[in-house]
Amino acid sequence: MGSSPTRFVIIGNGAAGTYCAEQLRKDDAGCEILMVTDEPYTLYNRVSLPRYLRGVLLEQRVYVRDHAWHEKERIDLRRETKVTAVDFAGKTVTLDPGGEVPYDRLLIATGGRPNPLRVPGSDGAKHVYNFQYFDDAKAMVARIQESKVAVVLGGSFIGYELTEAFAHRGLETHWLMRGPWFLRKALDADGGQVVRLLAEDAHVHMHVEEGIAKLEPKNGTSRVTGTADFTADADLVGVGLGLTMNIDVFRGAGIETNVGVVTNELLETNIPDVWAAGDVAEFYDVASQRHHRMGTWDNSLNHGRHVAKNMLGAKQPYVEVPTYASSMFNSNISVMGVTTEEEPEAEAIVEVDLEGRNYKRLFFLKGEDGADRLVGAILIGKMKGRKRVLELISSRTPVEQRHAVFEMLAVPEVPAKAAPPAE
Ligand SMILES: Cc1cc2nc3c(=O)[nH]c(=O)nc-3n(C[C@H](O)[C@H](O)[C@H](O)COP(=O)(O)OP(=O)(O)OC[C@H]3O[C@@H](n4cnc5c(N)ncnc54)[C@H](O)[C@@H]3O)c2cc1C
Repeated sequence: MGSSPTRFVIIGNGAAGTYCAEQLRKDDAGCEILMVTDEPYTLYNRVSLPRYLRGVLLEQRVYVRDHAWHEKERIDLRRETKVTAVDFAGKTVTLDPGGEVPYDRLLIATGGRPNPLRVPGSDGAKHVYNFQYFDDAKAMVARIQESKVAVVLGGSFIGYELTEAFAHRGLETHWLMRGPWFLRKALDADGGQVVRLLAEDAHVHMHVEEGIAKLEPKNGTSRVTGTADFTADADLVGVGLGLTMNIDVFRGAGIETNVGVVTNELLETNIPDVWAAGDVAEFYDVASQRHHRMGTWDNSLNHGRHVAKNMLGAKQPYVEVPTYASSMFNSNISVMGVTTEEEPEAEAIVEVDLEGRNYKRLFFLKGEDGADRLVGAILIGKMKGRKRVLELISSRTPVEQRHAVFEMLAVPEVPAKAAPPAE
């Protein structure tokens, strides 16, 4: 008698969940895969949402996988279904709707939810938006049509994406951030100044060291009063105040959690047959030798593919240099490896060209052997040298002269050798 197929249950159908399901099917034609999401959609690309919001990408182009794909791959996708409880000892998850279902192996890929604005007047205020879900983007696209003035709060990537989209749509856009500059823990004042210049080139009004103190309804708009001296009547308010990880449903059930779900370098949790991947995984990173979380598409996708192999029995540590690449108004930004945001002990050196709007910041840490190593970098403007940075970080090559790394990045990268002609 043959053994029954392994039953995999995946909570969350973002990049981590869906690419895990895809890999499981590739490597095990006979297994059962049940994937659950409380959203109404098949996998869509959150990284594409800003371009959809800007109006340069059609709704259909945001989707990455459709229903037909799930059917073909025999992935049972339950949409608008919430996992409300997990019994790790009995190996079941409770679905609403759907009741209790058993699993053999479980993946937690629940990502995070955006922190709402909580100030006097924000409760029930109209036209105040977070930016995490397709539905947020759709609601903002509808509101933009009838708007002239937008206010954005948030000095990190979501704040930037909202600002860029509203400015691109021709709204009078005010970008408020509580810190002295964008990404205040990872950039220095020069980096902040480059971003300010890029924002002002795009006709954005920047207001640093300014928060939102209160909101009041006024003739269909929101009267925004800042924490310093800002006021405006905004047709819409965008909010980027970070994420809270979706781990509430697992709390008290015996699984180790911190900010996210804690895993080892194999993405295994402390509970047998349970793994975590993507934004929610607080994983042990072999490259930086510490636990941390990443909030990037590539990390979620790679986690998903990688964890599938481990759920099928491989015991491979996850080793990737984390990267985040984004547009930055009419320029680009790339963040690689570890910065002073995650590792305040890292020492940084900077090269800046304000006029050209170019900036490079390199982060170094001393290893246990006393040698200096490049552990991270931020480039704004020209992206030349990005590949070299990644090589230096992943190879953990000792660096003798920190400033010599800038010279290495300036040397043109040798194009890959053309393949010899076929015999
Ligand atoms: C607007 C925006 C722009 C971005 N831009 C970039 C970029 O330029 N570059 C980059 O690298 N990254 C970017 N990111 C980040 C990147 O998109 C995320 O890191 C990645 O999509 C996370 O994937 P995930 O699978 O880990 O989680 P998610 O995509 O968050 O998926 C988790 C899913 O699980 C569901 N869920 C949670 N709890 C339950 C439950 N109890 N029951 C059922 N379902 C549940 C959630 O609703 C969600 O659908 C951006 C993100 C946003 C929002």
